[in-house]
Amino acid sequence: MSPVKAKPEPFRIKMVEPIKMISREERQAALERAGYNLFLLKGEEVYIDLLTDSGTGAMSDNQWAGLMLGDEAYSGSKNFFNLKNAVEDIFGYKFTIPTHQGRGAEQVLFPVIIKKPGDLFISNMHFDTTKAHVEMAGGRAVNCVIEEAFDTEKYHPFKGNFDLAKLESIIKEKGPENIAAVIITVTCNSSGGQPVSMENIRKTSQLAKQYGIRVFIDAARSYENAYFIKNREEGYANKSIRDIVKEMFSYAEGFTMSAKKDAIVNIGGVLAIKEDEALYQKCAARTVPMEGFITYGGLAGRDMEALARGLYEGMDYDYLDYRIGQVAYLGEKLREGGIPIQYPTGGHAVFVDAKRLLPHIPYYQFPAQALGNELYVDTGVRAVEIGSFLLGRDPDTGENLESPMELLRLTIPRRTYTNNHMDVVADGLIAIKDKASTLKGLEFTYEPPILRHFTARLRPVQ
Ligand SMILES: *Cc1c(COP(=O)(O)O)cnc(C)c1O
Repeated sequence: MSPVKAKPEPFRIKMVEPIKMISREERQAALERAGYNLFLLKGEEVYIDLLTDSGTGAMSDNQWAGLMLGDEAYSGSKNFFNLKNAVEDIFGYKFTIPTHQGRGAEQVLFPVIIKKPGDLFISNMHFDTTKAHVEMAGGRAVNCVIEEAFDTEKYHPFKGNFDLAKLESIIKEKGPENIAAVIITVTCNSSGGQPVSMENIRKTSQLAKQYGIRVFIDAARSYENAYFIKNREEGYANKSIRDIVKEMFSYAEGFTMSAKKDAIVNIGGVLAIKEDEALYQKCAARTVPMEGFITYGGLAGRDMEALARGLYEGMDYDYLDYRIGQVAYLGEKLREGGIPIQYPTGGHAVFVDAKRLLPHIPYYQFPAQALGNELYVDTGVRAVEIGSFLLGRDPDTGENLESPMELLRLTIPRRTYTNNHMDVVADGLIAIKDKASTLKGLEFTYEPPILRHFTARLRPVQ
C-alpha cells in the first residue's frame, strides 16, 4: 500500500465505458503509423488517455438531464439565457457570447483589440492557441511569469504569478500604446497548471490599468485557481470558491473561456465582457460570420444548457478537493518513485521534467516527446509534450525556439479515471527511469507552419 492517501470520489458511478489495452507490438506499429506523434493515434489505440483534460471529463446526471432540455431555436434559445444569467450571476459580467470552444472566443476578441501589427499581448504564459490567435491577428505574444515557474524542484505556492517588475519594465520599454492587452491565464496551463494568487491578479490588473492597458482573463481553469487561493493564500481560507471567483473576475474587463475544462462539458466556450458595450458590439459583429449567431455561437441549445449547469457544478468544493487531490496523488507517487516533476503539482495535470530525466536529448530533438512515446509503447498511456516541440519557431527568424522547460504533461480528465489508473501511469514512468539513457531524440519528416505539434510527423534520430 502506498502511504500516499487518495481523497475519495464525491460521486458514485452510474454508467461505464469499457476500455481495452492492445498489445505492445500493436502499440509500436500504431506509433510508427502516427509519425511518432501521439496526437495522430486513434483513440482506440490508447488505454489510459491523459492527452488532455479538455472536453474529456464525465458530465453529471444533472448535466445530462440538461441536454434533454435543449431549446434549438436559431435565435433566443432559452438555454442561451440560462447561460447568460449564469455568467452574470457567477462572474458579474453583463455580456455573454457563446463560442464553440475557447479558441472561438479568442478568434472573435483578439482582432478587435489588436489595433496594429506588432502590438503586444502580455500574459503570465500564453496557452498555445492563445499565442496562435495573437499572432494570426498580427500581434506578438510575450510571457511574463515569475522565474520560480521554471525551477521544477522549488516549491512556490503560486508558480503562475506574473513577475510584476518585469511586467512594468516591458510596458515602459515598449510603450503602453503598443500593448493591446494583458491576459491573465488562470491557472497557468503552460507553467504546469500553476495558480496565480489573488494578490498577484490584483496587482497585475492595477499595474496594467495605471498605464491604460486592458486586462482580460483566460478563464479555462479559473475554478481550480480559486481552489488554490482558498487553500494557500492568507485571508481566503474561510471564503467560498464562489466569492473567490467573483473577486478574481472583478479585476478584469472580460474573459475568454474554454468551458471544456472547469465547466466540465465536452464542447463549448464563452466570451464575456463586463460592461463595455462598444467592445461587446464589435465582438458580436465578428461572432456571426466566425462562430454563428450571437445566441448560440457554434453550440446547440443543449450544449449551452450543460455548460450553464457545469458553470455552477464546477465550483463545488468537495469536487475540486477530490479533483485536485487526484492530480496530487499521481504527483506524489511519481516523486516517491524518483521521477522529477513540476512541484507542487498544479490543478489539472502532473508535469514530468523530461529535461532532468533525459539530459542526453537536446531541446531540438524533443526529450519530452521521446518520453511520451516510450510511455505509450510500454503501457498504452498517452500523455502530451509541453516543451520545444509545442513552442515552435520564432515567427521572425524561423529558428527553433528553446523552451525553458521540457515537460511531459499527464493530464487528468475530470471524474473519468480512478486512482488504480493513476497507479498504472506512475508504475510505467518509474520503470522507464532505469532505461532513460537508451531513449532516442526525434527529428521531423513533416513540419506544418503553425501549431506544429498537432500534425507534425517525426522519426527517431539514428
Ligand atoms: C484549453 C485552453 C484554451 C483553448 O481552449 P479550447 O477550448 O481548446 O479551444 C485557452 N487557454 C487555456 C488556458 C486553455 O487551457
